[in-house]
Amino acid sequence: MDHSLRREHLLADLPELQVDALLITRLPNVRYLSGFTGSNAQLLITETEALFLTDPRYEEQARREVPDLRRETYYPEFVARLGEICLELGAPRVGFEAAGLTYKTYQKLAEAGAVEVVPMGEVVEPLRWVKDAEELSLIEQAQELTDHAYDLATAKLAEGMTEKEVALELEQAMRQAGAEGIAFDAIVAFGENAAEPHHRPNDRALSPGDVVKFDFGCVVEGYHSDMTRTVAFGEPPGELVEIHELVLRAQRAGVEALRPGVTGGTADKAAREVIREAGYGDRFGHSLGHGVGLEIHEGPGLRRESTDVIPEGAVVTVEPGVYLPGRGGVRIEDMVVVETDGARPLPRSPRELVVL
Ligand code: ZN
Ligand code: ZN
Repeated sequence: MDHSLRREHLLADLPELQVDALLITRLPNVRYLSGFTGSNAQLLITETEALFLTDPRYEEQARREVPDLRRETYYPEFVARLGEICLELGAPRVGFEAAGLTYKTYQKLAEAGAVEVVPMGEVVEPLRWVKDAEELSLIEQAQELTDHAYDLATAKLAEGMTEKEVALELEQAMRQAGAEGIAFDAIVAFGENAAEPHHRPNDRALSPGDVVKFDFGCVVEGYHSDMTRTVAFGEPPGELVEIHELVLRAQRAGVEALRPGVTGGTADKAAREVIREAGYGDRFGHSLGHGVGLEIHEGPGLRRESTDVIPEGAVVTVEPGVYLPGRGGVRIEDMVVVETDGARPLPRSPRELVVL
């Protein structure tokens, strides 16, 4: 991955931001711009130089992963070192990521007085919305492991299994097949528990007639996958069959609305209208989807009124759901890649209602 090219793209925004340097502290952004995969580092980027800061635990890793940048280590805090470096570089006005510093660290920086610190919105994230071929390939690999785990877990479903056991099957299958980790704790929800959008798996045992909602994913070289499927274990209540059909129609409408240049709000509306017209508008209480990449939830946002403009090359989820308290719920989620003439879903797992 060409990290220096990414830093160049970022620098194009520097004059507009009216700062001498950018302090990047959000780790996914540090990784995107430098290749560093550890858990503590900052980047200071000026017109002429990019500096990588970390603590001594990561000195060796940084030597390997960030060979092209001037590297500085500090202990215990970067605040004092940052001031010295900025003075040395003649960069007294530093923009920082408002979402990337604790208030405590901000206060220390401001009180140190060595530099003027200026809050910035998201400056790196929009660059990350567009995936290059290498990033897309990693996301596709993560999706492939996700589909594979889904095959194994659905084949193993048996009466009496608990939600926790099924969640473990999913997570183990992805790791055994080569994932470096799970994208988030897998959601497995049986029957009435499927009415909770983000149910935490418990000891509820599977019984005939339950719907089973799976929402899970994994990580390959830092890139995430995210998929939801809802199946039935034995013949489900008729109401849930209808809800499944409805959610699937909404999901298709959301996917079909996506193309380069539309806003996240437009895609959200296309799916939400289908559910609203069927009378279940108040049972779909979350956004339609989100970008996926180095973070499981990133931009662009597909939610009500979102003005995020979807670029070609974005990878986003489309995941409408309808939830009926006490009775169950259905969500169907695909990651899609936005191409010139529309969105291409990445999962190969069927979306239609499967009765196991
Ligand atoms: Zn999900
Ligand atoms: Zn999602």
